[in-house]
Amino acid sequence: MVDMLDWNSLIDERTKISNLLVVPNLQTGQLEPLLSKFTEEEEGQMKRMLQRLDVLAKHAVENGVRLMVDAEQTYFQPAISRLTVEMKRIFNTDKAVVFNTYQCYLKEAFDNVSMDVELSRREGWCFGAKLVRGAYMYQERSRAAEIGYEDPINPDYDCTSRMYHRCLDYVLEEIEQNQKANVMVASHNLDTVKHTLRRMNEMGLPPTDKKVYFGQLLGMCDQISFPLAQAGFPVYKYVPYGPVNEVIPYLSRRAQENRGFMKGVQMERDLLWKELMRRLACGEVFYTPAL
Ligand SMILES: Cc1cc2nc3c(=O)[nH]c(=O)nc-3n(C[C@H](O)[C@H](O)[C@H](O)COP(=O)(O)OP(=O)(O)OC[C@H]3O[C@@H](n4cnc5c(N)ncnc54)[C@H](O)[C@@H]3O)c2cc1C
Repeated sequence: MVDMLDWNSLIDERTKISNLLVVPNLQTGQLEPLLSKFTEEEEGQMKRMLQRLDVLAKHAVENGVRLMVDAEQTYFQPAISRLTVEMKRIFNTDKAVVFNTYQCYLKEAFDNVSMDVELSRREGWCFGAKLVRGAYMYQERSRAAEIGYEDPINPDYDCTSRMYHRCLDYVLEEIEQNQKANVMVASHNLDTVKHTLRRMNEMGLPPTDKKVYFGQLLGMCDQISFPLAQAGFPVYKYVPYGPVNEVIPYLSRRAQENRGFMKGVQMERDLLWKELMRRLACGEVFYTPAL
């Protein structure tokens, strides 16, 4: 059974969301509410969340910027992806404004990407993807082991990298054939960046088309971001923002999960040291005393 839910009815003050989400009881054939356990307060929270998404997407359209929806753990992600696709249908009519995030450490990553691309072709909206490797590997694995379901994560790092490049190639081919798709390569991995540049070159996709973006976290991997920007690619530096108790765990997850991260830090330090020496040698260093 396929339910088509109209975005406007989801954000409408008057509708009760739990009345919209119904599933058939296989014994009786009667439709029953999926979320009958929602309290009034939870119902209100859901409605406010949908209305905020609507405000954000409209603001993005009005200001000509993109709205990238982050991906979380697999036990939340289907709901996030579902709502993001719903937003894409409404807001990605002329260009990709809303982007969903696809985590390539998942065994199902390629299926998720290819299914959404196919849906965008059939329904005629612009596909927008942020491709990441994925940030919750340890949590996912320990939860799967604890509850006793199959680990959703690829067996090893190389499988994740192969999955990343497979998903990326698929979206690049979609861009080549149908200029409506957009992708952000959100990675600190130099091989992945080089892979993207090589494939773009082979396909004759110029950076100035602004269909392929790159993203790194602020303060990380400037040695990758800056040359890309100088070569004319759209490059984003993600700014972790929020209350300290949320930002610190976020940053520590990055440090914990980024396999190449510590190697990258050492490389960045070496590059900065070299640059400092170069400037000292040609008298380019200025000292500003702290006020
Ligand atoms: C701009 C930006 C936005 C991001 N947004 C999100 C987001 O919305 N959601 C999200 O989950 N993450 C997000 N991330 C984080 C991202 O998922 C990665 O954790 C991080 O970027 C490290 O991956 P990498 O490709 O940069 O580096 P690499 O060092 O090449 O890859 C490390 C990653 O490889 C994977 N990996 C490592 N070991 C194994 C193993 N044994 N088996 C299988 N896989 C393994 C893990 O995903 C790990 O994080 C974002 C990152 C950036 C730069």
